[in-house]
Amino acid sequence: MGSILAFAEQRDGKLRKVASEVVSEGRRLADATKRDLAVALVGEAVEDLAGGLTACGADLVLTISDPKLARYAPMAYARALEQAVKEASAEVVLLPASAMGRDLAARLAARLGAGLASDCTAVSAGEGGALRAVRPVYSGKALATVVFATGIPAVLTLRPNVFPPREAQGRGESRRLAVSLEEADMAVRTTEVRLPETAELDVAEADIVVSCGRAMQGAENFQFIRSLAESLGGAVGASRAAVDAGWIDHRYQVGQTGKVVSPKLYIACGISGAIQHLAGMSSSKVIVAINKDPDAPIFKIADYGVVGDLYAIIPKLVEEIGKLRAAG
Ligand code: FAD
Repeated sequence: MGSILAFAEQRDGKLRKVASEVVSEGRRLADATKRDLAVALVGEAVEDLAGGLTACGADLVLTISDPKLARYAPMAYARALEQAVKEASAEVVLLPASAMGRDLAARLAARLGAGLASDCTAVSAGEGGALRAVRPVYSGKALATVVFATGIPAVLTLRPNVFPPREAQGRGESRRLAVSLEEADMAVRTTEVRLPETAELDVAEADIVVSCGRAMQGAENFQFIRSLAESLGGAVGASRAAVDAGWIDHRYQVGQTGKVVSPKLYIACGISGAIQHLAGMSSSKVIVAINKDPDAPIFKIADYGVVGDLYAIIPKLVEEIGKLRAAG
């Protein structure tokens, strides 16, 4: 039986949180289906990262190191990953549903003639070993269960923050894999990376997200939301209404045309709960909504709701959190 291959995403020589999530889910699936778990690590001088992956249960880490792979180059990465699939005799490939993972998964599936299920929130092996995946559809209004045909490779992207990383035991072998890249593989490449000036937590990677929307009424009021996010050690998010108004940058936007987040705690302040916003946050573990309109749709999916003016509620929350922190 073919193995499972997990793609361990790294940036600038650091493994991303999604890498341990994908490898951990790969381990769980490998145990459930009695397969080996191989992990592909692609980049420049990435060999030192292999140890972090064996701790998540990799049986074999294939490192593909090349200066040309230092930054994401779609065709070159797809070629590298295709080679890793062959080397590991993989039948199932797991990638994160991150910007890089989504782009890479489609390219890889086309090269392999594989089936592709994107943004999965659950994966299991059904009767006869057929792989089943659950993926939210229609902006999260429904869940579709897709079943892969046996006999063709399966490529899946896993929604970030849904699959918990775990320590696990694998054989822990590590091997270098050489890939010869041609001129055509570098036709599309990253020439420059511009990082935001602030060192803020990325909304897609944070365990706690405090978001606000049109109720903010202006850019200056986002400081208000930041105070609550900072008191909880979380990140700031926003609805599209706030982004379109120019009050906050698009990188904070949560939703169908923004980022998909699944934090442990999502606090929606003055956000009505439009379907396009829910598409980006409805898989959060605990949802708290603060809204002055008791009929706001956000309350239908909230675990806890506070009806009232966020300008009166947030300072009280920050004060109480401060007291709790001071009390240890
Ligand atoms: P509103 O819907 O105007 O809601 C504001 C809420 O604030 C209201 O519920 C109000 O009761 C409450 N409020 C006002 N003042 C206070 C106060 N002082 N205290 C407490 N509560 C208060 N939206 C996204 O968010 N993300 C997306 O990615 C996205 N993609 C889209 C893609 C498409 C193709 C389309 C058509 C739309 C998309 N939208 C997206 C827009 C979406 O439909 C909504 O328009 C948007 O989410 C509304 O943002 P909001 O909740 O901040 O504003």
